[in-house]
Amino acid sequence: MKAPLTGMSIEALAEYVKSKHLQRFRAVQIADWIYRKRIWDPDEMSNLPAPLRMELKTDFSAPSSRVETVSSSPDGTEKLLLELQDGNHVEMVVIPGNDNRTTFCLSTQVGCPVRCVFCASGAGGLVRNLAAGEIIEEFLHGTKKTGNLPDNIVFMGIGEGLLNFEALETVLKHLTSPEGFGMAPRRITVSTSGIVPGIRKLAALKKEFTLAISLHAPTDEIRARLIPDAFRYPVAEVLKAADEYRDTCGRMVTLEYTLLENLNDSREAALRMAEISRNHHAKINLIPYNQTNRGFRRPAERVIREFQETIEKNGGTVTRRRERGASSDAACGQLRDRAERRR
Ligand code: SF4
Repeated sequence: MKAPLTGMSIEALAEYVKSKHLQRFRAVQIADWIYRKRIWDPDEMSNLPAPLRMELKTDFSAPSSRVETVSSSPDGTEKLLLELQDGNHVEMVVIPGNDNRTTFCLSTQVGCPVRCVFCASGAGGLVRNLAAGEIIEEFLHGTKKTGNLPDNIVFMGIGEGLLNFEALETVLKHLTSPEGFGMAPRRITVSTSGIVPGIRKLAALKKEFTLAISLHAPTDEIRARLIPDAFRYPVAEVLKAADEYRDTCGRMVTLEYTLLENLNDSREAALRMAEISRNHHAKINLIPYNQTNRGFRRPAERVIREFQETIEKNGGTVTRRRERGASSDAACGQLRDRAERRR
């Protein structure tokens, strides 16, 4: 597979044009097209000489993905199914918020090695990591759809980003650097199923990225029923890494909690989560399960409300995720699931 043109730093582009015996300003022009004008097809880079445009198309995969379908919900959420150069698929989602704010949800892998039992994305395991440039293209497809940079980015699409750390680090750099897209780190949320070494690597970047850890359970016993052994770290270790992240990066950590009927929705579990929230100064974000026929059910509304109230009354900080796109392919991975079955 050819490397995507997107994701190339200005230094890497400078090396490339030098190898073609061209002056450095050509690299600046290419970067300007990608990072300022958000155009990544060399055919559209009108101030480049035709031979250079041809060479870019020969040497790189540019563009390296195309929008295969767009699935829209009445609330304005749009899910883009992208076909990659090797025929694999990933999704990115454009989520509208209050005051015309927009959030992009990006994927980091094709499939996912973690294989949480309730998740469509992980059902088939990992196919491959996405290259940094492919993740940036997801972002660019989103900007093409909306005409603007998003207000927020969440890495909560397909894949476990911290198991594709090198690419994720490059993407974060391009998203936040002044010569890249110049977004504030605080507006970017990195989500993880609790990969402890990855949390430490992210902390070592010493940036104010928001960290969201999918804890889903207050005990190892319950968590073991949701996340298979291979990539599951003990709750105590995950929380220790969360504390270190908060202390290093100065950001309150969010603990994501997918609520599943008769599995992790008991009063006892709510009391333990309140304790965890208090002791670790962490915010719990409740996500009532969005059914994908994997043998799990969403708790009744009364149970969800009681779970939230129990945490609140016992001194925990808790929010409930606003549900988006419920009418069309709402759970992560559903759209890709169907596309792959068609192949
Ligand atoms: S929930 Fe996240 S970490 Fe778990 S299998 Fe799905 S994509 Fe992977």
